[in-house]
Amino acid sequence: MTAPLIDPFQRAITYLRLSVTDRCDFRCVYCMSENMTFLPKKELLSLEELDRLCSSFIRLGVEKLRITGGEPLVRRGIMTFFDAMSRHLDSGALKEMTLTTNGSQLERFADDLYAAGVRRVNISLDTLNEAKFAEITRWGRLPQVLRGVEAALKAGLHVKINVVALKDFNEDELFDIAAWCADLGLDLTFIEVMPMGDIGNENRIGQFWSLDDLRAKLAERFTLTALAERTGGPARYLRLEETGQKIGLITPLSHNFCESCNRVRVTCTGEIYTCLGQEGKSDLRGPLRSSEADAPLEEAIRAAIGLKPKGHDFDYSRQQLGGQMSRHMSHTGG
Ligand code: SAM
Ligand code: SF4
Repeated sequence: MTAPLIDPFQRAITYLRLSVTDRCDFRCVYCMSENMTFLPKKELLSLEELDRLCSSFIRLGVEKLRITGGEPLVRRGIMTFFDAMSRHLDSGALKEMTLTTNGSQLERFADDLYAAGVRRVNISLDTLNEAKFAEITRWGRLPQVLRGVEAALKAGLHVKINVVALKDFNEDELFDIAAWCADLGLDLTFIEVMPMGDIGNENRIGQFWSLDDLRAKLAERFTLTALAERTGGPARYLRLEETGQKIGLITPLSHNFCESCNRVRVTCTGEIYTCLGQEGKSDLRGPLRSSEADAPLEEAIRAAIGLKPKGHDFDYSRQQLGGQMSRHMSHTGG
C-alpha cells in the first residue's frame, strides 16, 4: 500500500485541480487583461504527461480530479485525455472527475464528457444579459453558453453555475439568476473576486462585492438557513426556506476556510501550488521528464505537499490589496 498524502497540518490531500491550458476563448475582465501573453506551447505538459501526472496523484490517494484552465475545452485533443482518465473511474480509484468551463464548447463536448464518466460540470456565468455578458467576458457570447448549458443538461450532466459577484455589475441580477437556476434545476454558487494577476486597467477594489452584502440582500426576500455541509473547500451553503433552493458562497477573502483544505493545484506546465493564495510552488515537470519511471515524480509530489502552508493571506480590509497574487487564475486554474 502507498502511504496517503498528508500535509504538515495533518490534512489529507485527496483533491487535485489540474489546469490543462492557460489559453481561453474569453477575456473576462477580472481574470485576464485583453492582451494576454500565453505560454509557448512547448512549455505545456503533453496529454500523455498530464495522464502520467494525474495517474501518480491517484496512486497516492487523490480521489477527486477537477479539470480547469484557462478554458479546458479549447485544449486540442483534450477528449483523448478525458477518455484515458476514465480508466481510473472504472477501477474505482478515482471517485469523481469534474470540469470547470466557461461553457462555450459544451454544445460540442457534453455527450463525450458524459461518455468519459464526467457527471458534474461547473459553468461560469456572471450575467444573463447579453450585452453585459459581452462586456464582462470581452470575447464571449451569451447564446453560445446558454446552448452549452442546455447541451450539458441534455447529456445528463449535473450543472453548477459559478457567478463571480461583481459590484455595480450583477448585483441587480441576484434574484433573476437565482430564479433561472431554480427553474432549470442548476446548482448556484457565488464567488468573491480574488486578487489574482495583473488585469490591466481594471480596478479590483471597485469590482469587489462582499458576499456578506449579497447574503443580506437575499435575506430581504428570503428566510436563510446556513447549512452545516462542507465539501473541504471554501464554499458554504445557504438554503432559501421559501423555495428550498440551496446557494453556495465562496468567500476566500472574508472568511478563513483553510483548516479543512484537502486540495492542491497543478498548472499546465507542471507546477504544483499547494495554496491558491500563496506564491509557494514546486516543479513537477522536471521530475516527470527526468525518468520514465514515476518514482522521482511521486517523490517530488510528496516533497511539495510537505511544504503546504497553513493558509492564505488574502485581505481586502482597509481598501488595501493584501495578499495580491502575481499569477492569474487562468494560470493556476480556478
Ligand atoms: N475558463 C473556465 C471558467 O471560466 O470556468 C475555467 C477557468 S476559470 C479561471 C475558473 C473560475 O475562476 C471561473 O469561475 C472564474 O469566474 C473564476 N475566476 C477567474 N478569475 C477570478 C478572480 N480574480 N477572482 C475570483 N474568481 C475568478
Ligand atoms: Fe477564460 Fe475562465 Fe478566465 Fe473567463 S474566467 S477569461 S472564461 S479562464
